[in-house]
Amino acid sequence: MSNATFRALVLEQEGGEVRCALREVERSALPEGEVLIKVAYSSVNYKDGLALHVPGRIVRRYPMVPGIDLAGVVEESTAPDVRPGDPVIVTGWGIGERHWGGYAQYARVKAEWVVPLPQGLDLKQAMAIGTAGFTAMLCVMALEEHGVVPGEREVVVTGAAGGVGSIAVALLAQLGYRVVASTGRPELHDYLRFLGAQRILDRRVLATPSGKALDSEQWAGAVDTVGGETLAGLLRSVAYGGSVAACGLAGGSELTTTVFPFILRGVNLLGIDSVYCPRERREQAWQRLARDLPLDKLEAMTHVVSLEEAVAVGRDILQGKVRGRVVVDVN
Ligand code: NDP
Repeated sequence: MSNATFRALVLEQEGGEVRCALREVERSALPEGEVLIKVAYSSVNYKDGLALHVPGRIVRRYPMVPGIDLAGVVEESTAPDVRPGDPVIVTGWGIGERHWGGYAQYARVKAEWVVPLPQGLDLKQAMAIGTAGFTAMLCVMALEEHGVVPGEREVVVTGAAGGVGSIAVALLAQLGYRVVASTGRPELHDYLRFLGAQRILDRRVLATPSGKALDSEQWAGAVDTVGGETLAGLLRSVAYGGSVAACGLAGGSELTTTVFPFILRGVNLLGIDSVYCPRERREQAWQRLARDLPLDKLEAMTHVVSLEEAVAVGRDILQGKVRGRVVVDVN
């Protein structure tokens, strides 16, 4: 590999201050790994917003290239099952947190982190999906495995206009569920209906404590990206035998609840993690995304920004101002 330089966003620590700067970096500075990838696209997730703007929360080692997602083409590989020229996706495993991530024109990663780009998706679509969409699919798979199938009773998605939420709404609607979108943004009701929501719920409804241990049974299941009082509200109102796939904390990390949803209604609280999700399930989820996510809806929920612009988007996502998904074109 020549030691040409490439462009990267770099988080640097200087005298106790963390700064983010666009740098020309030598390829020899890349971390260890069997696979060198020429990155085409990354994306902006909630966690990227935290990495960029909340020092010490996600990134603790500097210099660090943020970006928890990347998609690109393998340029060099010493692993037998990953070949130069392969289009690939890498999400999670600590990239953009502890290992240099996707906000750069090159990345070097472990071969076991690499997922082949599934047939039917291009690199840009893969990053329009990104960790957010992958997580939405893991939530849907978990609900399915716990018997939440399309039927009369509604499923609800919280934080619906965000990245995970938008893709969860589109996926569930495509699969035939009756989807309710819980959102705090009235101006996005039409957008959520376009994605497939049959009904919209003001997010204050679920987030307001009722003072009771159980509320009336409403939902067959739920995808929750918000946490806090919202998750507590979901647990009180999921119908007998239903499940909540909990993946997020956009509204808070605390959970105050009682055992009654579990012991009187057999409700399941399903924890969803995308970062260390095992490889086989990862590939399964990406295959399902390629099959089940309508690409016209994916396109409508996505916009593309440059590396420089990703920094400002990171701030917006922490303030709940981003609609759907943001792809970063690193070139
Ligand atoms: P986004 O910012 O795109 O979406 C979050 C949405 O949550 C917002 O759009 C908003 O939806 C809602 N929201 C924001 N702030 C509040 C608040 N204070 N109270 C109630 N609702 C709020 O982020 P992502 O979709 O990228 O991520 C969503 C969550 O999922 C994050 O907490 C993230 O950390 C987590 N996550 C977890 C993963 C895992 O592996 N477990 C992987 C990926 C994400 P609206 O405007 O519709 O109300």
